[in-house]
Amino acid sequence: MIEKREFYINGEWVAPDTPNDCAVINPSNEEPCAVISLGGQADTDKAVAAAKAAFPAWAATPPAERKALVAKILDQYHLRKEEMAQAISMEMGAPIDMSRDDQAECIPWHLGNFLKAFDEVEWIRPLRDSVTDTQIALEPIGVVGLITPWNWPMNQVTLKVIPALLAGCTIVLKPSEESPLSSMLFAEFIHDAGIPAGVFNLVNGDGMGVGTQLSAHEDVEMISFTGSTRAGRAISKTAAETMKRVTLELGGKGANLIFADADEKAVVRGVRHCFNNSGQSCNAPTRMLVERSIYDQAIEIAKETAEKTKVAPADQSGRHIGPVVNKRQWDQIQGYIQKGIDEGARLVAGGLGLPEGMNKGFYVRPTVFADVKPGMTIEKEEIFGPVLSIIPFDTEEEAIAIANDTPYGLTNYVQSTSTERRRRLSRVLRSGMVEMNGRSRAAGAPFGGVKASGRAREGGVWGIEEFLESKTIAGWDE
Ligand code: NAD
Repeated sequence: MIEKREFYINGEWVAPDTPNDCAVINPSNEEPCAVISLGGQADTDKAVAAAKAAFPAWAATPPAERKALVAKILDQYHLRKEEMAQAISMEMGAPIDMSRDDQAECIPWHLGNFLKAFDEVEWIRPLRDSVTDTQIALEPIGVVGLITPWNWPMNQVTLKVIPALLAGCTIVLKPSEESPLSSMLFAEFIHDAGIPAGVFNLVNGDGMGVGTQLSAHEDVEMISFTGSTRAGRAISKTAAETMKRVTLELGGKGANLIFADADEKAVVRGVRHCFNNSGQSCNAPTRMLVERSIYDQAIEIAKETAEKTKVAPADQSGRHIGPVVNKRQWDQIQGYIQKGIDEGARLVAGGLGLPEGMNKGFYVRPTVFADVKPGMTIEKEEIFGPVLSIIPFDTEEEAIAIANDTPYGLTNYVQSTSTERRRRLSRVLRSGMVEMNGRSRAAGAPFGGVKASGRAREGGVWGIEEFLESKTIAGWDE
């Protein structure tokens, strides 16, 4: 059993103020794989005080020096990337090959992109070419609290920690209590890279404890949060008292509009994308809207793709999907599948219970519902499991209306060989991102949503600017 009870505060690993053990459960076998501590107010205060003390010197460090130090984190990753892939796979159930190729690789991908974007930041510039007496300076906001979820642990940690460091902020990270091991290893990378003591701190804890304490703390200037819409709302309310900046990356219910003129792989691609990471991605295309003339054919392909999707333990090599993260999540997904059946959707693949031959671990059968009607629970709510809802449509207008009729707005998808149609749709779908014909975002593009998906923008120059304040300075030329 791995014992990781300490927190990283002011450049060293320190014991919690008051012992409060929490087991980390391996979702593949339901066995405890590690024990951590949940922090309390005294631990949070200590970490915030360390970050506050370190802020002036870190903010004053010349940008090029900060950049050089941050780049060294990448060297640490390359030395220990297998350890990172193993930690992620064990704590949250990503199959080991996927953990190596996708989950852990988020670190070099985002880090490299931020280092490039960093050179585009204009730290100080005249208001306009003709108005040099007024200058606009960008300055780090201060001590930031970063609160992250378990589903893509290093994706979210890297998307927050790296730009915050580059911006000149000092940090208290509270990773998800479900996936703390990868973040603790990441803290070791930061330490070994030589980031000065107090600049980065990590305190484990739950939402009601350290999460709320950071959100309420008067010395924390900003909370950057990724997770559920429920927690995002709670954080915003708590943070309002101290007027801190709050940036939120929340849930989603992405629509994937497949037209009759789509390429022949569109349905298979959509199903696989929905099931990737066992359906635990905020930008998963969970509502497949299909033009009526190809509807029956699409259902057949989706059924076949789901039945071919293998489910297996995370430590097995191969292109299967793993378990979902915990029992609570498993129960919730079962509840949604039952609701789908009760409300009259047609179950065409998967369904309730464990996949055949499995009796332990939080595994979910890859599930497809057809004839899903707008307004049904499985069409409206984020399930966060490998469950796809297929909905027919007759006209482009109807498809747009269904796609936009959701509180969420993270990523929508369009599959059509008509360039005109794609461009038209990309402008009317209400979401922070639209991805078409299986093309994903280019490096440095901002990631984020609208409405209940939150309004943050992470990645690239936008992601760095989230951690900066602009200061207007007049009288520069006097
Ligand atoms: P969650 O909201 O329960 O937990 C996320 C983090 O917030 C954890 O660290 C948790 O301890 C903390 N937390 C919980 N309640 C809190 C509170 N009241 N105050 C402060 N902190 C609190 O979410 P989860 O179940 O861990 O993650 C799944 C959710 O995250 C899904 O809804 C998913 O769509 C969303 N998500 C969004 C994005 C995005 O970029 N938009 C990315 C990944 C996940």
